[in-house]
Amino acid sequence: MKKPKILVSSCLLGNNVRYDGQNTLDRWLTDQLGKHFELVPVCPELLMGMGVPREPVNLILDQAGKVHMISIKSKINYTTKAMEVSQQIATQYAEQIYGMILQKKSPSCGVERVKLYNEKDEHMFNLKNSEKNRGLFAQYMMEHFPMIPIIDSGRLYDNGEKENFLRQVMCYYRFKELDGTIKSLQDFHARYKFVIMEHHQDAMRKLGKLAANSHNDEASLVYQKYAELLFSTIRKLPSVKSRTNVFYHLIGFFKNELESNEKNVIHQMIADYNLGLVPYLVPKKMLEYLINKHQQYYLKNHYYLDQFPKELQVPR
Ligand code: SF4
Repeated sequence: MKKPKILVSSCLLGNNVRYDGQNTLDRWLTDQLGKHFELVPVCPELLMGMGVPREPVNLILDQAGKVHMISIKSKINYTTKAMEVSQQIATQYAEQIYGMILQKKSPSCGVERVKLYNEKDEHMFNLKNSEKNRGLFAQYMMEHFPMIPIIDSGRLYDNGEKENFLRQVMCYYRFKELDGTIKSLQDFHARYKFVIMEHHQDAMRKLGKLAANSHNDEASLVYQKYAELLFSTIRKLPSVKSRTNVFYHLIGFFKNELESNEKNVIHQMIADYNLGLVPYLVPKKMLEYLINKHQQYYLKNHYYLDQFPKELQVPR
């Protein structure tokens, strides 16, 4: 399989492109992620011609509520240039990439909680879900390409968020590889339904109806609606409760194969996961064992066991 491309803030890959000539190398990216994905480095500020080293910039909120990127001492307004470069990067890469990992806190790349100042250079707020606390490049990409999975480097330290990002990237990649027919969308849904069910059971059902296309709508329209619901659904982390439901559902595939004492042990394992007594991987590995032992072909072919490269799985 070719390596899917992920766009990454250049400084995270060890390139000395920060305003102070330093980098923010993250070895997990270069040593682990890079084995499975092609990491494409991009530095918006370098492309803006700001040079290295350079005067740092801040995000400033004007009285009309518009956010600007302005250098701290010389007060040069880089907002227009930042928009031009964002558009240029998008034109070059948006159709080739399946995810983005961007440097935290940066006025260009930060996805959340970037410091915002008023016109008197007084710090105002840095909120998690506020567009105004987002770097200008990150905001441009999220606004124009809402389906491309994105993560702030500050979130890579949360194993659940990190895994969910990988899950989204692989799902987006596989979706983009479809041939545009309703048949391949239906196959895709059949192989992803239990992954989606972990995120939201109702959305999984709605997506199944969309893929069934009982009104014979144009395939491109069905794909568009399906993609919007799919990627907004799997962006949210799955809950323990919904994962527990999926475990019980999948164990049902083996009701004729399992002895009653085996069923009891497995049900206890799932109940323990639900109570937080054992990690998610405990019942999941048991399920994988059952699928292989009993050659359950439908589940073996399902993406549930193949959500992203297993070498990147964090034991938890
Ligand atoms: Fe360049 Fe973004 Fe890194 Fe700043 S955070 S140095 S703009 S890649």
